[in-house]
Amino acid sequence: MCGIVGYTGVHQAAPILLEGLEKLEYRGYDSAGIAVSGTDREGNPCIEVVKAKGRLKVLCEMTDNGRSVHGCCGIGHTRWATHGEPSVANSHPHYAKNKRIAVVHNGIIENYQEIKEKLIKEGYVFTSETDTEVAAHLLDKYYTGDPVDAICRLMVRIRGSYALGILFQDRPGEIYAVRKDSPLIVGRSAEGNYIASDVPA
Ligand code: GLU
Repeated sequence: MCGIVGYTGVHQAAPILLEGLEKLEYRGYDSAGIAVSGTDREGNPCIEVVKAKGRLKVLCEMTDNGRSVHGCCGIGHTRWATHGEPSVANSHPHYAKNKRIAVVHNGIIENYQEIKEKLIKEGYVFTSETDTEVAAHLLDKYYTGDPVDAICRLMVRIRGSYALGILFQDRPGEIYAVRKDSPLIVGRSAEGNYIASDVPA
């Protein structure tokens, strides 16, 4: 088991994501990470990813409790490794080239090996040993401007269990989420909307 959180709203996302992940620590984990939609120095949309092996405390220290990562929309993850050792490279979020799409995943993609081999032949470069990374590259392959269409095509392609939180760089302020056989809930409020693996977050 691991934890997923997501927040989009009027507040800075990173501190909220870290607080949410803390509330999911009881589920167990070996590494943690966040991805936040923001803007680069020229004002263009960009996704910033920060990951750390070990306790959540390390990620909090790296980001000054989230204060050094700017943007009001993001996703976070605590990982319980099933494919690939606990490491920074294997921790989530995973992302497609140029960080145009970022993904957190809870569960197992059973047919990842065959998908990975095909994607490598098509020129995709993998930087982790996880099953999850195929989801980021498949979304990159399928995404032509319609997130729901790309996610539907992804769901047809992958087998296994999953809860996914997804950011698209060109859709700032939006989080996409999908689940099959892994828990994921949605919370709504006037100040923002959330996804989480469990109620405490
Ligand atoms: N199977 C994925 C991995 O090994 C996700 C594990 C999890 O649910 O934390 O990275």
